[in-house]
Amino acid sequence: MSAMKLKRSNDRKVANAVSKNGKTPTIANTFGLPAGKNFSCPGATSICETVCYAGKLEKVYKGVKAVLLHNWELLRNADITTMVSLLDEMIIEFKAECDKKNADKLFRIHWDGDFFNDTYAYAWKTVINRHKDVQFWVYTRVYSAVPILQDIPNLSLYFSTDDENKEIAGALRELHGTRLAYLGKTFAVTETVMKELTGKPGAKCPENNKQIPLISTNGSACVSCGLCVYNKADIRFSASKK
Ligand code: SF4
Repeated sequence: MSAMKLKRSNDRKVANAVSKNGKTPTIANTFGLPAGKNFSCPGATSICETVCYAGKLEKVYKGVKAVLLHNWELLRNADITTMVSLLDEMIIEFKAECDKKNADKLFRIHWDGDFFNDTYAYAWKTVINRHKDVQFWVYTRVYSAVPILQDIPNLSLYFSTDDENKEIAGALRELHGTRLAYLGKTFAVTETVMKELTGKPGAKCPENNKQIPLISTNGSACVSCGLCVYNKADIRFSASKK
């Protein structure tokens, strides 16, 4: 792979195509950047640092971190034209692979990392609009990215909410109708907060609630569930899984 290309990642939870035995992704359908305030997450809260699953993987696997840093180096100081052309090329390759393997074109933006500046959010907007045959989904903690990316028909956008940024979440909901993905300590607590923010309880993530496996012969958790992929509901996550 060329050094000047962005690198996609495999993720068992979000894969759009899985092996016959239901154990591994066969298409890399997500993209990551290094997480944390020092890298791509200006909206990081202190809660992120305690629960960030992606951040933990970065620490454990050197190869994972290397891919994320590679992507970061290509994008961090790039102008919008360069960003668009890098992201566009990555999605074109992804689509060709989906066609070859007869897989639905579902792409999860940011299994790790976030919209580190507005230029980058606008670059994604351009690329998402160019590829209307792909359904994209993403969670962000960067509130300035929300108005940029809200209401793109083939993007399911969530504001990642926790106790530290829930006022911002409430404001985004009121202003733009933004969908929320709320992470709290227990499902009972998240129900109360979700009702305060949206007037409705929202849906428990069935994977987080241990109702469906991470990956199986039915596909990945997110593709078999579909709630986030197609923006069907506000979602609740529990850090304790209880
Ligand atoms: S609610 Fe469904 S789509 Fe959303 S994270 Fe959980 S399993 Fe994935």
